[in-house]
Amino acid sequence: MQPYKPGMQPSEVQKKFNLDRIVKLASNENPYGYSKRVTEELKTMATDFEMYPDGYASELRNKIASTLNVSEEQLVFGAGSDEIITFICRAFLSEGTNTVMAAPTFPQYRQHALIEGAELKEVPTVQGHHDLKGMLEAIDNQTKIVWLCMPDNPTGTVIPEKDFHMFMEHCPKDVIVVLDEAYQEFMNTKNQYDLKQNLSAYENLIVLRTFSKIYGLAGFRAGYGISSEQIATKLNIVRGPFNMSIPTQRVALAAFDDEQFVKETKEKNANVRFEFESFLQKIGWTYYPSVTNFLLVNTPIDADEAAAFLLKNGFIVRSGNLLGYPQTLRITIGLKDDMQQLQQVILKLKDSIQDGVIG
Ligand code: PMP
Repeated sequence: MQPYKPGMQPSEVQKKFNLDRIVKLASNENPYGYSKRVTEELKTMATDFEMYPDGYASELRNKIASTLNVSEEQLVFGAGSDEIITFICRAFLSEGTNTVMAAPTFPQYRQHALIEGAELKEVPTVQGHHDLKGMLEAIDNQTKIVWLCMPDNPTGTVIPEKDFHMFMEHCPKDVIVVLDEAYQEFMNTKNQYDLKQNLSAYENLIVLRTFSKIYGLAGFRAGYGISSEQIATKLNIVRGPFNMSIPTQRVALAAFDDEQFVKETKEKNANVRFEFESFLQKIGWTYYPSVTNFLLVNTPIDADEAAAFLLKNGFIVRSGNLLGYPQTLRITIGLKDDMQQLQQVILKLKDSIQDGVIG
C-alpha cells in the first residue's frame, strides 16, 4: 500500500515553471468558491476555540435531518466523507470478510478495506460504468459491504435509478450498500435518487454526502452519512467524539442553508461543461458522459505527457494513469474564462502531437 499521492500545489507549479498564474483543475473543487453566508459566518468566529466542539454537531444535525426529512439519529458526521468511509470500514470489515467494489473507482474504499485486512472483490467497470450484475455475482457469504459511486469518480457516469433498485432488490439484506453521492447535487434534479424513499425501502443502505464539492468547503473537511438508525449508531461508536471542529460545523450550517448558491453553481457548471464538451467534439477528442463538475477525457497520447504539457502551460489536471484509466485526463470544470484558455492550450497540444508523441 502507498500513502495518498496528492497532485502538485499551485504555488509549487508556479515557481517551477515561472508562470504568472496557475489554474488547478485536478481535485474537483468548486471554482465559484462558497456561499457569502460562509464568509459572514467566518467574520463572527474569533472566540471559544479553547472549548471542544459540540460532539453531536447538534445545530447542523438538526438542520440536515429536518431538511432531508430523516431522524437525527440516522446521521453521522465526519471530516469529509473520506472519514465516513474509514468509519464504515472499521465498523464492518476485518480479516476473513470481503468487500465488493467497481474497479477503477474512488480509491479510498479500497485503501481502507485493505487497512482493515478485508479481501477485495474488484469488478471491472464497463465503459466507465459499474457492472452491477457482475458486482451482484461477486457477493458471497463473507461479503460485508458493496460500494456504489454514483456519480462515479473518475468517470462522472451515473447508475440509472431503476438499475440501482434492481441491484438493491437482489443484494442480500445483511450486506451493507454504500452509495457515495459526493457529486449528486450537480445532477439534473429529475435524475437524482429519492433519498427518503430509498432509506425507507432499504435498511442496508448508507448514503454519503459531502460539503467539499458543490458547497465549496473542501478546505474545512465536512461530510456526512445517512442510514438506518441502527447502522448510524455503529458508525457513531467508531467515530471520535470531537471529530468535527467548531468552525467546520458553523460554516457547514451556513453553506447548507444557501440553496441559491448551490443552484447557481450547478447551472454555471453545467453550462461551462457543455461548452467544453462541444469544444472536445469539434476537435474530435472523446470523453465519458459526465453529470458532474469534471470530465474524463481520452487523450491521443500518454496521459502523463499530456498532463505535463498542460502543467507547463499553467493548468493542473489529473492524469488518468493514476486513476486506472490510462490515456485519459480528468479535468475539473473551472471558470468559463479559464476553460476557454484551456481550450487554447489543448489546441496547442493537439498541434504539437506527431505520431502519437509530442513533437
Ligand atoms: N467520494 C468521492 C466519489 C469523491 O470524489 C471524494 C473526493 N474527491 C470523496 C468521496 C471524499 O470527499 P471529502 O472527503 O472531501 O468529503
